Amino acid sequence: MEERAAAELIEQARAETARLAAALTRQRDEIVAAAEFSSADDEHDPEGATIAFERAQVQALLRQAQDDLAALDRAAERLRAGAYETCERCGGPIAEDRLRALPATSICITCANRR
Ligand SMILES: [Zn+2]
Repeated sequence: MEERAAAELIEQARAETARLAAALTRQRDEIVAAAEFSSADDEHDPEGATIAFERAQVQALLRQAQDDLAALDRAAERLRAGAYETCERCGGPIAEDRLRALPATSICITCANRR
C-alpha cells in the first residue's frame, strides 16, 4: 500500500472514531446529568438501576473508542517508521485487505488467529 493511502486510511478511521467518542461523551454526560436530576428528591428511584446500567454501557463503549484512538495513533507512528505493513509479532507482512478492514491492527492474520 502506498504511504499516502495508508495515512488517509488511518486518518479517516481516526476521524470516525473521534466523532464516535465525542458522541459517547455527550451521551454519558447527559446520563450523568439525568441521574443527578432524578436522584435529587429520591435516592431510591427505581430508574436509578437502569441509569447506572446505561451509564456503564456508554462508558464501556467510550473506553473502547478511546483505546481505538490510541491504537490508531500507534498505527500512524508505525507508518512514519515504515513499519505499518509489518507484523509486530512475526515480522511478516500484514495483508492490505486486513489493513483496510482494521486500520489500527499491528499484527498479521496468522498471528491474530493464533492469539
Ligand atoms: Zn504475524
